[in-house]
Amino acid sequence: MTSKIKRTNSEALYEKAKTYFPGGVNSPVRAFKSVDGAPLFMKKGKGVNVWDEDNNEFIDFCCSWGPLILGHRNEKVFQAVVNAMDNGSSFGAPTALESELAELILSNNRFIEKIRFVSSGTEAVMSALRLARGYTGKNKILKFDGCYHGHVDSMLVNAGSGLATFGISSSAGVPEVLAKETLVLPLNQIDALRACFEEHAHDIASVIIEPIPANNGLLLQEKTFLLELRKLCTEYNVLLHFDEVISGFRVGFEGAAGLYDIAPDIITYGKIIGGGLPVGAYGASKEIMGMVSPDGPVYQAGTLSGNPVAMAAGIAQLKECVKPGFYEDQEERTKYFVSAINNHAKEIGFDFQLVSVGSIFWLSFDGKTTIRESARINSDMAGFRKLFNALLDRGIYIGPSGYEVGFISQAHTKAILDIAIEKFCDAMNEVM
Ligand code: PMP
Repeated sequence: MTSKIKRTNSEALYEKAKTYFPGGVNSPVRAFKSVDGAPLFMKKGKGVNVWDEDNNEFIDFCCSWGPLILGHRNEKVFQAVVNAMDNGSSFGAPTALESELAELILSNNRFIEKIRFVSSGTEAVMSALRLARGYTGKNKILKFDGCYHGHVDSMLVNAGSGLATFGISSSAGVPEVLAKETLVLPLNQIDALRACFEEHAHDIASVIIEPIPANNGLLLQEKTFLLELRKLCTEYNVLLHFDEVISGFRVGFEGAAGLYDIAPDIITYGKIIGGGLPVGAYGASKEIMGMVSPDGPVYQAGTLSGNPVAMAAGIAQLKECVKPGFYEDQEERTKYFVSAINNHAKEIGFDFQLVSVGSIFWLSFDGKTTIRESARINSDMAGFRKLFNALLDRGIYIGPSGYEVGFISQAHTKAILDIAIEKFCDAMNEVM
């Protein structure tokens, strides 16, 4: 069942784009491969709404895959960007804006003392892995099956057979010798984790984890598992790396580290930190960050790192996020939305649940609310595909993949959520 919305202009633009870009896109999930039909080409966003090139209007729950926590074209972010741009877009020299954003972050975060700005989440992770290796003098990295950390070579690996296996590259172009430097474990399994540390910790530089895994469904981890991970890392001198590209500034200003009150050694950020412009960052203690060039021997640089326009957008956005009550309000509206939809699903006997944390939600089919490991997700996304298209027909846009999460922004007021709830319930009635 494909959506019935008008796509004439999107289809024409897609045909043209396919002649220029692999798959017609500059990032794969945009190609709508798993939900049928041509991808929608967006023209405009304001508040909760986006408009595509055929003038279809949607209430947007993708929010650029997370960065837009204030909604589209927020007035404060817009003015900050215009003002910064007015002074020139880039200098390749330091500006006061970089320190202003750093101060805003560091003075409201108990877990990192110094930070380095880069231009994407992938770049942040790549740099943080190098830092961990440089600081510890060890080579292996432990990651978890089901967590995504960007397209860093050594993170494009799958688990082989058995527990604590050496990684097998999941992308052509990643040398097996590199993949073997990554160990892969299932999430949330304390015994496997302990066994892996006993055998390999002497070779492991860092353990990287999405403390709130949100790239393969929403695989909420038991706090005991995260606490055990922290304990083992301390015991065996392995650095704990929280990849908070999604959860950072999303589940609280201090991200998942703050939410669980667990102190990682290195944190990576992206998405929200740049107010919708391309910014990533990694941070750690002064001692660990002291290893980064030019203070230390771990090289890392960037022509557009700390770009003034992007910094200005990040400052404007995070100044709103840091206000008292911001996250409580986000969570309250998300719970309102999620529980109304879940109640309706129950009423009509639709085997479906929205699972949420903070202002993140995931559409979980088969009534599975507590999936903690990626292997347990039902890979048959037929239910998602149907609901996605029924939602499009009713003016609701969510990310075009059943593995991805949705986001609630400050612009999603209760009045707008009421409209969205009605449309959502109507879509569920249709696909039942
Ligand atoms: N880490 C995590 C946890 C992510 O969710 C993502 C992107 N979804 C990345 C890293 C990579 O970030 P980017 O797409 O900005 O390179």
